[in-house]
Amino acid sequence: MDLKAHIRGIPDFPKPGILFYDISTLLRHGPAWRAAMERLAAAIRPYRPQLLAGIESRGFLIAAPLALELGLGFIMLRKPRKLPGATVGLDYALEYGTDRIEMQADAVAPGQRVVLLDDLLATGGTMAAGVALLRQAGAEVPATAALIELSFLNGRQRLDVPCETLLRYD
Ligand code: 5GP
Repeated sequence: MDLKAHIRGIPDFPKPGILFYDISTLLRHGPAWRAAMERLAAAIRPYRPQLLAGIESRGFLIAAPLALELGLGFIMLRKPRKLPGATVGLDYALEYGTDRIEMQADAVAPGQRVVLLDDLLATGGTMAAGVALLRQAGAEVPATAALIELSFLNGRQRLDVPCETLLRYD
């Protein structure tokens, strides 16, 4: 199955000059979504994860079905003030300004192997922040993965763990 055929490029979103890779068209197509999940499952299985984490919100659409496919639990890395109970958080730099992600403080056991997923790797800032937060919470992060990689932005250079990606755009 040609998964790229199910990804749509939308010009000038969210601002002029940006070409946004829309995964909605892939999610809408059951067999394509399933094929993508099977391929990502095969790519991350060798890292022997004990838990999968997803980054809000499109990362949830990748991590949750993958966790079911692999028979693993799933945890959420969310925008600030969304999660109940005690949380740990991390501020990270954006092109303009800063952002923050949070997770529940008791979400991972010390040393638990957690693979982090998102829909797309661009500059790598979001994924790097997610890895740092998971480590702060006590996790070991053997790898990250994403459906799409914008290779020209060299996001993987910001990561000190492998990033498994299925579809690359130059
Ligand atoms: P980064 O932090 O690597 O620069 O940006 C990655 C984050 O921004 C991901 O959470 C991803 O969901 C979002 N993102 C940036 N560009 C795109 C895009 O073209 N398509 C999609 N689906 N997400 C994007």
